[in-house]
Amino acid sequence: MKYYDKLIFEFSKKGRTGYSLRKNEWTDSTDSIPAGLRRSAPAALPQVSEVDVVRHYTNLSQMNFGVDTGFYPLGSCTMKYNPKINEEIAGIRGFQSLHPLQPASTVQGVLQVYYEIDKSLAELTGMAHFTFNPCAGAHGELTGLMIMRQYHLLRGDSKRTKVIVPDSAHGTNPASAAVCGLEVIVVKSNPDGLVDVDDLKPLLGDDIAGIMLTNPNTLGLFEKEILEIANLVHGCGGLLYYDGANMNPLLGVARPGDMGFDVLHLNLHKSFSTPHGGGGPGSGPVGVCEKLVPYLPVPRVVKTSAGSFAVIGRAGAGKSSTVKNAECCSESAGEVSGFLGNFLVTLRAYAYILMIGKQNVKLLGKLASLNANYVKESLKDSYKLPIPSVCKHEFVFDGLIDDGASKASDGKGATTLDVAKRLLDYGFHAPTIYFPLLFHQALMIEPTETESKETLDAFIDVMKKIAVEAAENPDLLKTAPRNMPISRPDEVRAARYTILKYQDEETNTI
Ligand SMILES: *Cc1c(COP(=O)(O)O)cnc(C)c1O
Repeated sequence: MKYYDKLIFEFSKKGRTGYSLRKNEWTDSTDSIPAGLRRSAPAALPQVSEVDVVRHYTNLSQMNFGVDTGFYPLGSCTMKYNPKINEEIAGIRGFQSLHPLQPASTVQGVLQVYYEIDKSLAELTGMAHFTFNPCAGAHGELTGLMIMRQYHLLRGDSKRTKVIVPDSAHGTNPASAAVCGLEVIVVKSNPDGLVDVDDLKPLLGDDIAGIMLTNPNTLGLFEKEILEIANLVHGCGGLLYYDGANMNPLLGVARPGDMGFDVLHLNLHKSFSTPHGGGGPGSGPVGVCEKLVPYLPVPRVVKTSAGSFAVIGRAGAGKSSTVKNAECCSESAGEVSGFLGNFLVTLRAYAYILMIGKQNVKLLGKLASLNANYVKESLKDSYKLPIPSVCKHEFVFDGLIDDGASKASDGKGATTLDVAKRLLDYGFHAPTIYFPLLFHQALMIEPTETESKETLDAFIDVMKKIAVEAAENPDLLKTAPRNMPISRPDEVRAARYTILKYQDEETNTI
């Protein structure tokens, strides 16, 4: 049995402990706990030594794959290297020990961070103001849509209940619209992978709240007709929502505000330094153009005429500033989270922006695009490239050119899933697979701006090697990964029927 086959409970030996505490000679500490609340029998915890515990969890942690251990070319979900200095800054005790109900006078520095990063992001995106209250990208989408709905409703325009979403959109877009109570209308992509303007025109009318787009879109392609799309949508009274989860390719190059977008969200946990994946804290700040500022959620940070910083519209902070009563925020779309969102994520983003600086920020988008095009051009003789144009930060293959079907024992060729599994054997995380849904064998690659040419070359070599393996011996790919602790779990079962309890057979305790 290997270490990863065992649970910590299975290392248990009766009487073994990892600590020894001196008996308290002064008081019987159980005295203060009412009898009815005390355990009748000791908890069935594993009885293990300290070294067993340390080795078990260290070994488990090393089974994980992350950006700190290897290249992670996940498309549409920017997984770039996160500078460790920003972790250190977020770890400063003064920041870690904050309480959300602290009087504003004791957290002036924190409020200043909100105030300053609002200005930085507004400049980078061409928006007027941001809220940092949403805690994830999808949460930002919902917030943005609530703002759009509020705008229409307060103008007495209550018929606008439909949102247009392209067929290439990230799955959270239609989901957020549905959660917001809006109806989703799908606009088709044309053969070039861009929004089909002719398909869009007949969808527009006085029932359209707006359109949700990402530009570059999820195929990594720049929507060249964006100004016309903006004119058309604005022309029918709708608003433009920009999904800026992966904003890195545009940073310093182009601004959604200049393209005509009215509302957007960013994922600070993708493009602005906080690591993502694994369910850690996120942040999906929402930026709006000038006319939508009154509808931003509360609470908000403002600079007072005296030059200090204050929080307005904070629930429970006194009658004059409760959400509904606050004069300043009477048109707000409401509250979307407790307090001001995940401050430490905001802080990392602020440190990141300052560290990169105005000069270098212009490089990010260009390097992200250069890296993606380099990988795309290097691999297009081995993988099907359905849309061959120059891409931005990411691109999509549609499976292998030669999938080896004639050589497979079951007559079926190697799939995108098989390529992804085989990559693990060579020490690379798989790209995004089977998304976007426009292609059957989608393999979506985003190298990001932080990877060196050497890393990209190593990835390209392995991808080519896998393509040769597929053509010559597809069965090899179908049984991959071969060098991992487990090969191919039943993914549905693994996700739906997680076993979170351990039953001790001897004592039958759970
Ligand atoms: C990741 C992502 C989202 C959703 O962000 P979450 O923080 O996971 O909710 C939305 N749109 C796009 C394009 C994304 O890549």
